[in-house]
Amino acid sequence: MVAEFVKSSGRIRFRNVTKRYGDQAVVDDLNLSIEPGEFFSLLGPSGSGKTTTLMMLAGFATPDAGHVMLDDTDISYMSPQQRNLGMVFQNYALFPHMSVLENVMFPLKVRKFGSKACLERAQWAIDLVRLSAFAKRLPKELSGGQQQRVALARAIVFHPKVVLMDEPLGALDKNLRYQMQMEIKELQRALDMTVVFVTHDQEEAMNMSDRIAIMNNGRIEQVGTPRDVYESPCNVFAAGFLGEANILPYAHLDSRYRQGMGMRDGDHLFIRPERVELHPVRERASAQPDPLQGRILNISFLGHIIRYQVALGERTKIYADSSNVADAHAFVVGDPVSIQWKKTSDARILQHG
Ligand code: ADP
Repeated sequence: MVAEFVKSSGRIRFRNVTKRYGDQAVVDDLNLSIEPGEFFSLLGPSGSGKTTTLMMLAGFATPDAGHVMLDDTDISYMSPQQRNLGMVFQNYALFPHMSVLENVMFPLKVRKFGSKACLERAQWAIDLVRLSAFAKRLPKELSGGQQQRVALARAIVFHPKVVLMDEPLGALDKNLRYQMQMEIKELQRALDMTVVFVTHDQEEAMNMSDRIAIMNNGRIEQVGTPRDVYESPCNVFAAGFLGEANILPYAHLDSRYRQGMGMRDGDHLFIRPERVELHPVRERASAQPDPLQGRILNISFLGHIIRYQVALGERTKIYADSSNVADAHAFVVGDPVSIQWKKTSDARILQHG
């Protein structure tokens, strides 16, 4: 193998990394550790700094401050070639005039493998992505999913410890996307690679990742397993970005309820729709209606779930999801209901970031 490439176990560290464009810090004092063999996703809205972070890892952008480390090597200013990382992008970037086999052999030729080794390894990678029958075709003779598999084979053919992926499935339709998510995950496990994956698709991030970093304005709001971040978001932004959420501002809640929860001005009450339970109630006039009693305002049939929107008082609306199972009570618009949390701990108090 060629000596000038970095050898690593696949451990990545960002240490106080800042990247500015003009006077905007698009990545702002980023600290992050990614472990060998981890599937790690950067998730966040458009413009939050995900791609810039990945480009600094790839070597296509250099930090203005701080260090990017691969194991014990500071790679902040190394060329992309020296870093020896695999890469897959949304637009595949396949060479249009080369066959599948030639495309996949390309990184090996650059790395000066002999022609026999090039052929054997390329065939191994093409087999792994199940394209052996298509090795002689040109990219334009393949479907989007097949082209993405070629890009994947090309990224792993030289056995990199780290593979970077930027919205690699963005161009695929929903079903194919899910299938490719499973395939990529399987490959990552089988080859024990560290994958750093950029996406703005929250379900994709939850499905694939060991851990997720939620980014916002060049900063990380929260890092954790999908379940951690989903169930215990650290603030209003993280709660609203990952999954459906009821986030009710202090001012919209009944004062008796606020007191009961120990909320203060500026706080938000957070609860996932699937943790809200609805119970039918009988109509009765009351001088002081129960703060957790309301009326069904809207019903969305989403197939596996029914999502009810309930009006509580004048200003508060809350979503409650009910599994579409045979014995579920079916409410209709206008029904009076009472609301309960499945567990008291399902409701949390959050602040802005
Ligand atoms: P994301 O991947 O989360 O959508 P990016 O990292 O692509 O975010 O961009 C973060 C911010 O940096 C955006 O406001 C974007 O316009 C800006 N930006 C990215 N690349 C450049 C560049 N080469 N020159 C100037 N601004 C850039």
